[in-house]
Amino acid sequence: MYTGRFAPSPTGPLHFGSLVTALASFLRARQKKGRWLVRIEDLDPPREPRGATEIILGSLIAHGLDWDGDLSFQSKRSAHYQQAIEQLRLDGLVYPCTCSRKQIKDAGAKEGKDGLGLIYPGTCRHAPPTQSDSPGIRMRVNDEVIRFDDLLQGPREQNLSKASGDFLIRRRDGLFGYALAVTVDDALQGITEVIRGADLLTETPRHIYLSQKLGFTIPEYAHVGVALNPAGQKLSKQHGAKALDDSRPAQNLVAALRFLRLPVENEMSRMPVSEIIDWAITNFSLDATKGIESQRVNF
Ligand code: GLU
Ligand code: ZN
Repeated sequence: MYTGRFAPSPTGPLHFGSLVTALASFLRARQKKGRWLVRIEDLDPPREPRGATEIILGSLIAHGLDWDGDLSFQSKRSAHYQQAIEQLRLDGLVYPCTCSRKQIKDAGAKEGKDGLGLIYPGTCRHAPPTQSDSPGIRMRVNDEVIRFDDLLQGPREQNLSKASGDFLIRRRDGLFGYALAVTVDDALQGITEVIRGADLLTETPRHIYLSQKLGFTIPEYAHVGVALNPAGQKLSKQHGAKALDDSRPAQNLVAALRFLRLPVENEMSRMPVSEIIDWAITNFSLDATKGIESQRVNF
C-alpha cells in the first residue's frame, strides 16, 4: 500500500516551507488512497525547545492535515537503530571513531562538493582507536557512484567517498545520525515514497547506500523545491522564518497550493479548510513542480 510520511524535526514551529512539504506528501498519499504517517524526528534533544512537537501537531490539525495511525517518535526507536548498527558491524561495514572536528580538520580534510561538510580522511579506518569510553561509529563507503531517479528532480548521482567519505551513524555523544535513523524508520514503517524538501537531495545517496547495506527496499524519492525568503535564503529558523499563523489556515493553504502550482483562485482563501483540502486532493499533481529546486516566497 502506498505509504508516505511527514517527518518534522521539532526544532521550532512549522513555517511556510514545512507546510509545503507536509501538504505535498499528504495530498499525494490521499490521492493514492494510501497512508500518511507523521514521525517526529526528535533525535537531538538540546536543539528541541519544549513544546515544539505540540505546536507542530497543532498546526497540522489546523491546516486539515490529519495523519493515519499513531505518531512515531525517533527518541523511542533507539533499539531499532542499535540493531541496524549491530547488523552493519557484523558485516564489517562500521568502525569506531574518536576524531573530533578539529582533529579531522588538522588531518587535512577538505570540504566535499555537495555541501555535506568535511570529507572524513579515514583516520580511524586505518588506525583503529585504542580504548575510548564512547567512540562515534562510522559507516564505510566505497569509491562508487550511487544513482537514483528523483521523481521531481530527475537523475542524480553522488560518489560518497568524494562527497562525505565514511560518515557518522552514531556521534561521540551517543546521538544517532540522521541518515541512519531516517533510513531505518522509512524501511521499518514501510514508506513507499519519500516526499521532502530539496535541501535533502544531497543526503539521499547515503540513505540509499544504507538501505542497500541493510537489505531494505529503497523507497521512491520526490524532492519538492524549497521555499526561499526574498533574500534568497532557505526559510528556516536561523534565517528568521515566521511561524505559521494557525489562525489563517485557509490563506496559508492557498499560498502553499500556489507554490505547488495548483490552479488556485484567490476566493478559495474564504473556503473552509476541509473544502480546500478536498479540492486539492482532486487537483494535486506531483509533476506540477518538476525540476523546480527552489522558489522565492513572500512569507
Ligand atoms: N527531519 C527532517 C527535517 O525536518 C526531514 C527528514 C526527512 O523528511 O527525511 O528537515
Ligand atoms: Zn576517527
